Amino acid sequence: MISNERTYEVITYGCQMNVHDSERIAGLLEAAGYHPAAEGTTPDVIVFNTCAVRENADNRLYGNLGHLAPLKVAHPGLQIAVGGCMAQMEQSLVVKKAPWVDVVFGTHNVGHLPELLERARREGTAQLEILDSLVAFPSTLPVRRESAYSGWVTISVGCNNTCTFCIVPSVRGRETDRRPGDILAEVTQLAGQGVQEITLLGQNVNTYGVEFGDRDAFAKLLRACGEVAGLRRVRFASPHPAYFTDSVIAAMAETGNVMPSLHMPLQSGSDTILKAMRRAYRRDRFLAILDAVRARLPEAAVTTDIIVGFPGETEADFEATLDVVREARFAAAFTFQYSVRPGTPAGAREDQVPHAVVQERYERLVEVIDAIAWAENKALVGREVEVLFATGEGRKDGTTRRLSGRARDNRLVHVAVPEGAAVPRPGDLARATITYAAPHHLIADAGFTGLIRTPGGDAWERSVQRS
Ligand code: SF4
Repeated sequence: MISNERTYEVITYGCQMNVHDSERIAGLLEAAGYHPAAEGTTPDVIVFNTCAVRENADNRLYGNLGHLAPLKVAHPGLQIAVGGCMAQMEQSLVVKKAPWVDVVFGTHNVGHLPELLERARREGTAQLEILDSLVAFPSTLPVRRESAYSGWVTISVGCNNTCTFCIVPSVRGRETDRRPGDILAEVTQLAGQGVQEITLLGQNVNTYGVEFGDRDAFAKLLRACGEVAGLRRVRFASPHPAYFTDSVIAAMAETGNVMPSLHMPLQSGSDTILKAMRRAYRRDRFLAILDAVRARLPEAAVTTDIIVGFPGETEADFEATLDVVREARFAAAFTFQYSVRPGTPAGAREDQVPHAVVQERYERLVEVIDAIAWAENKALVGREVEVLFATGEGRKDGTTRRLSGRARDNRLVHVAVPEGAAVPRPGDLARATITYAAPHHLIADAGFTGLIRTPGGDAWERSVQRS
């Protein structure tokens, strides 16, 4: 055991892959004897798990590192480590820009962090270790999960695509697939611990199996998750439209615990822009997939990602995106203003769209998306839904006597708890009738029925008692 009393904090940026990697980083540090720092105390180790995609990712990182310089002077034993996609991309630049950083590690060697921290402490010099290929699949590393009733399960890392705006392939490498047996063993173990819901994670979950030559591997995996006792909900993020097969749709429709929610990045509705993005599908294919999904899963909620202002985007291209949005009727969308990412082909293009134009289009897009999301939510008023109660989903729960959770289609539902009623725990399930719809959430103010105290609720209760 390297150290006993030192404490740590992990700061996470970016996508769900990073959120889960941070659970692995926490697990690694705890296996090395570190403890989570108590709220409001200065940790002995601060780890930044960085993103290289989202807007101004680098400014935010260096801004936060800047704030830590004086803290380091005040706490000489404090160690700062920077990992994740930005570290993999910037490498020694991180220490050049922030010489008070002790460790820089990449996306392929997360498991080496405790050792690098110890070496930096022993030698008093910054440690930089960036590797070009995966040392160990993240799921082989210890883990400290944030939730007792819901879990992330990585099925692949890296990506074989070359979308022109994306840095992921260069920082996460080519797609590496985990063995189906390993995945199912982890899923079964989680269900055995009370986990009610899992999310299968990959840059492109539906290309899963490409590494071992099985085009149907993802559909088979979904069906296999359907056989896991006690597992009530299976979700996945994110599929790529170009590789969406009928066998995946059939597996979704025919496997009881696969949820009717689909997050499928569109990025643009213009074929010209999709070509320039190298997205390998066009708008008609995207819409045809939605039709096929809705034919088998009429209640499915579809969400998406859209980039506004990709270089060369004309008003006509943008209108084409609005057309697809109106036709696709998304339950919600993550919308991004295009920002130049160094090292990407799109970032090198001359025809960048002026920021004012991007901003104006962005506002128009959000308006259309919100109006449709609200109309789709209003259509659910009077519908009875199953809610998996959760922590951290209802900012106002304390004052509204409501509890929050997710419906099967992943919509956020705030449920009133009648005076004197048994109070559901996070991880428990109940049925509730929607009484009001807002653009981004639903309300069930008539209370709930059929409360199920699940092993997930029990696991949550045990975790609270332990902390
Ligand atoms: S599919 Fe495209 S956008 Fe997604 S991770 Fe791969 S290169 Fe990036």
